[in-house]
Amino acid sequence: MSSQAPLIDRFARRITYLRLSVTDRCDLRCAYCMPERMEFLPKAEVLTLEELHRLSLHFIARGVRKIRLTGGEPLVRRDMMDLVRALGRKLGDGLDELTLTTNGTRLTEFADDLAAAGVKRINVSLDTLDRGAFAKLSRRDMLPQVLEGIAAAKAAGLRVKINAVALKDINEAEIPGLIEWAHGAGHDMTLIEVMPLGEIEGDRFDHYLPLDAVRRDLETRWTLTDSDARSGGPARYVDIAETGGRLGFITPLTGNFCAGCNRVRVTATGQLYMCLGGEGRVDLRAALRSDNPDSALSECFARAMGEKQERHSFVIDRPGSAPAVSRHMSTTGG
Ligand code: SAM
Ligand code: SF4
Repeated sequence: MSSQAPLIDRFARRITYLRLSVTDRCDLRCAYCMPERMEFLPKAEVLTLEELHRLSLHFIARGVRKIRLTGGEPLVRRDMMDLVRALGRKLGDGLDELTLTTNGTRLTEFADDLAAAGVKRINVSLDTLDRGAFAKLSRRDMLPQVLEGIAAAKAAGLRVKINAVALKDINEAEIPGLIEWAHGAGHDMTLIEVMPLGEIEGDRFDHYLPLDAVRRDLETRWTLTDSDARSGGPARYVDIAETGGRLGFITPLTGNFCAGCNRVRVTATGQLYMCLGGEGRVDLRAALRSDNPDSALSECFARAMGEKQERHSFVIDRPGSAPAVSRHMSTTGG
């Protein structure tokens, strides 16, 4: 597919980064992400592997240089590695980076294949190192598999970044220990504020932990120096002298970062969401399945760039407030 005009929105932001959800299903049920009885999409609605691949090539032709495969849990989709291998062949030919975000439960099985396909770095989500707390938070007793998976990724030569959602009264007290563990094992780490996305069983307000407070607490223990490092995303980094590692802060609530947004997200059913925090979407599946997908997709992209909102506004300031959007993070693709 020959290259075409870049994707630039009405605020002159150039879209170079696609987060592509390959499934909304997951083998964990993290309490801040989804309810225990999560209703998943009928499989028939989900794009085929060939459609996901074709769609990715369209994005690459329009200037997307980085693709992150996500979900749900991307590694629970059976044919997932075929997509990784197909997209891996675009590395150096339009694509600069292919990566994924995973909960790590299946990394032991797939780490070598990911590395062989050209994946260099992955994000692994891990909120606690305490087996009981992990089982309670994710509603599945799978911490040992995750830790084995992270070790397997490292052994396969993948750079691993650990992502943890900071949660009051859940992992708050453990955050310094988690950072020490990650840095000790040679992994960068990023903390994330919980976002009001989709209904869950509890109230996110009860566990919302603003990261400015976490940073102040860490500064009483360690020497934090602001870093110029950027990962092409919203994280702001500090170097920690005592642990010798880098720590990122993603602050969708306390520090808006939308001015530099370079990304869009596509769900497993081919819905293009221009913003994690907005309801605006464009149906790429219908375009892909139309008689003239090239022109239908071009129209979709033009509409999306015209509609991408300037910024999200997430607030968690009182008990019982409704989510900002009804979709769960696992639907849009984290
Ligand atoms: N299952 C994979 C995983 O957990 O890494 C990929 C998808 S998951 C939706 C992506 C990321 O979103 C994870 O790091 C998870 O912790 C985070 N996440 C899920 N729900 C969230 C929420 N409501 N607020 C903030 N982060 C959330
Ligand atoms: Fe699954 Fe990731 Fe959501 Fe946890 S955060 S339930 S691992 S999709």
